[in-house]
Amino acid sequence: MQKHDGMKASLASARTTTVLAVVLSTALVTAQTQITPPKNNYTAEQDVQLGREASVQVRQELPILHDDAVTSYVQDLGRRLVSAIPPELQHREFSYTFEVVNVREINAFALPGGPMFVNRGMIEAAATEGEVAGVMAHELSHVILRHGTAQASKATKYQVGEVAGAILGSIIGGGWGQVISQGTQFGLGTAFLRFSREFEKQADLEGAQLMARAGYDPRDMANMFKTIEKQGGGGGPQWLSDHPDPGNRYDYIAREAQVVRVSNPVRDTRAFDQTKDHLRRLAPAPTTEQATKKTGRTTRGGGGGGENRPPTGQVPPPSGSYRAYNEGNLFRVSVSSNWRELQDTNSVTFAPEGAYGSYNGQSVFTHGMEFGVARNESHDLQTATDELLDSLARGNPSLRRSSGYDRITVADRQGFRTVLSNRSEATGQDEAIAVFTTQLKDGTLLYAIGVAPQNQFREYRAVFDRVVSSLKVQG
Ligand SMILES: [Zn+2]
Repeated sequence: MQKHDGMKASLASARTTTVLAVVLSTALVTAQTQITPPKNNYTAEQDVQLGREASVQVRQELPILHDDAVTSYVQDLGRRLVSAIPPELQHREFSYTFEVVNVREINAFALPGGPMFVNRGMIEAAATEGEVAGVMAHELSHVILRHGTAQASKATKYQVGEVAGAILGSIIGGGWGQVISQGTQFGLGTAFLRFSREFEKQADLEGAQLMARAGYDPRDMANMFKTIEKQGGGGGPQWLSDHPDPGNRYDYIAREAQVVRVSNPVRDTRAFDQTKDHLRRLAPAPTTEQATKKTGRTTRGGGGGGENRPPTGQVPPPSGSYRAYNEGNLFRVSVSSNWRELQDTNSVTFAPEGAYGSYNGQSVFTHGMEFGVARNESHDLQTATDELLDSLARGNPSLRRSSGYDRITVADRQGFRTVLSNRSEATGQDEAIAVFTTQLKDGTLLYAIGVAPQNQFREYRAVFDRVVSSLKVQG
C-alpha cells in the first residue's frame, strides 16, 4: 500500500506553540548561574530510544573513524566531562558514547540520551585540549538538559509521532521511504539539533560549569567558538548555524568563567599533542560531501522523487512474540517482535524486513501496520473514518471497500474496523487492508492500518486484531 499524504497539511496546521520558560537566575554575583532544565514531555527512556535510533542512521550515513588512538582520546575526554555532571542532571538511563567522524568540517553533535559525534575537523582545528573540551561540554550540556526532546515538547501532544519523525528526519532529511532510497540530503538541523537561543545560553553556561569541574578553563570554549567563526567562510560552518549565538556569548562565558574560577586549568596535554600528530599522519579527512558520495550516498536534493526501491518481497512471517512500543504520551501498542518501526512525519509504521521501501518517491509497505493520528473537522467517528478512507483512496487508485464498518472496541472506546482490497502499484500484487479507527477525547482520529498480500491476509488479520487489542491510548 502506498502511504497517504492527504492529511498532512491539516496536522501541520494544528501545531501550536507552547511558551517555554527557561529560568536563568543569577541570584548572587558570586554564585554560578543556576540552570533549570526546560519543560519536557518525554521520559529519559524516550531520549535514549530516540538517540539510539538516530545514531544508527548517523553511523550508516557518516564515516566513523575507526582509529583506536583518536577514539580513545576523545572517549577519555568525554568521560572526564561526564564525571563532572552535577547529581541533579544525572540520568541513569543515559549512556554516553563518543565517536569521531572522519570528515573535515568543524562540527560536533550529540543526540538525546548520550551518543556524541565529534568531527575529525574539530579536533584538527582546536589549538588546545581545552577547546575540544569546550565544544564537547557544550554538546554534553544539551544532552543532560535534554534540549532535543524539550524542543520537541513544544509541539502539542498530538504531534508526538510527527516530532519523532522530525527528529529522525533531521538526521536524514525525509520520510523513511527516502531513507531507504538514499535520495536524501544529509542535514543535521531543523527540529532537533538546531536549538533556540535560550537553550544555547543554557548549554554555554552549563558547559562552562562542566568544564570548570573537569579542570578546564571555560574561556577555552569561547576561544573555540571564535576559531569556528573565523574558519567559517561563506555562510559559516554548520556548528554555528545549529548553535546560534544567543548574543554576548563571549561576555557571559567569560563572566561565568570568573565565578567558577579554576586554578591551573588543563589546557595543553601530551595526549592532545600526540593525537594531533597522529591525525597529521593519516590521509587527510574528506569533506562530508565527498565522504557520503564515496559510499554511494547522495548528499544533495533528490528528495526521493522518482526514486524506486520497492520492497524486496522476501518477508519473514510475523513473530509469535510481541514487543511493546510506546509512542510518547499518545499511545502504547504491542507489535510483532520482528517488525521494525519506521517513523514518518505523522505516523509510525511497523513492518518486517523486506516489506517496506519506496515507489515513485512514496513510502510503501506490503506487510505490517501503520499507526497515526488525523485531526479532522468532523466530530463523529463515522465521518472521520470516511475521510481517512478517502485520503487512502487518493494515494491508492485501485483501493476498494470490501466490507462495511464493523463496530468494535478499540482502546476501551468505540471503534470501527473495515477491510479494503487494493492492487499495490509498487508490487502489482493484490493486497488486503484492515483499517481500525477510534477517536481521542478531542475528536482527533487515531487509526491503525494493517496491510498484507491478499493470499496471506487470513494469517495477518489475526495479527492485526491482536495488535489493535493491545492498544492503549492517552487522551
Ligand atoms: Zn548548542
